[in-house]
Amino acid sequence: MAMYAYKDAARTVKILARDAQKQDKSNRYYCPNHKCDAHMFIRNIEGVSASYFGAIHSHGHINNCPHGASNRFNPNDYDEDTFEFDNALLALTMPGMSQTKKELPGEHGSGNAKASPPRTIRQIYSMCKAHDCSDTYNGVKIGKMLLDNRSVYMYPKGVFGWRIIEAKCKRPHFYNSIKKEISLIASTAGEEYTFILKFESEKLFKEIKNVIFLNRECFTVVAGQWSSSGTFNVFCTTFLSKKQLAIIN
Ligand SMILES: [Zn+2]
Repeated sequence: MAMYAYKDAARTVKILARDAQKQDKSNRYYCPNHKCDAHMFIRNIEGVSASYFGAIHSHGHINNCPHGASNRFNPNDYDEDTFEFDNALLALTMPGMSQTKKELPGEHGSGNAKASPPRTIRQIYSMCKAHDCSDTYNGVKIGKMLLDNRSVYMYPKGVFGWRIIEAKCKRPHFYNSIKKEISLIASTAGEEYTFILKFESEKLFKEIKNVIFLNRECFTVVAGQWSSSGTFNVFCTTFLSKKQLAIIN
């Protein structure tokens, strides 16, 4: 699902789901992904719940489109008002806290007051991907939560503080077993940022290294509190919990 789309095939005129009007409901909109020709329509425009864009079955998203089936974000499943980005990421670094909390009956649903804010890395990542990067979620700019190919221009001086980064593993070597470090790369025209995950636990290091190796063609998404490594355009974070990682096909 998507919280934004484009009015034209050239993707020059953006429309946010919240700004769509009733009279727009029969208009076809274009997927933010230029390579994807999904026919998108505004959904829920007449209901009391939040609107969003979805593709019709006959003209769906291409495989692995970040705005298609891989993104299950529905604004009505979450409580935006109680979302606190820094606290949510801090919780992901706490190994003991389980996130597989069983859902209470009625917790999952439209406009339910008991809905929780997005909390797993996948939920937060999907929420960010669903929104335009200059849009906000509970007052925080999407691009300031997720560094990806859309938002990298917002980081001219580097990546500092709590952020989720979307990256690929560094070639030809992405890990250093002696230092217990994993290196990822996010690149765009002219700029290349390296992200180093530092491990205290040998066991966790090996486990994460293996997961990333098996998925080395995929995007690796990491939540962390980033700081300078001392080398230009290289940033590092301490990796304490599996909950900080998601692999995106
Ligand atoms: Zn698409």
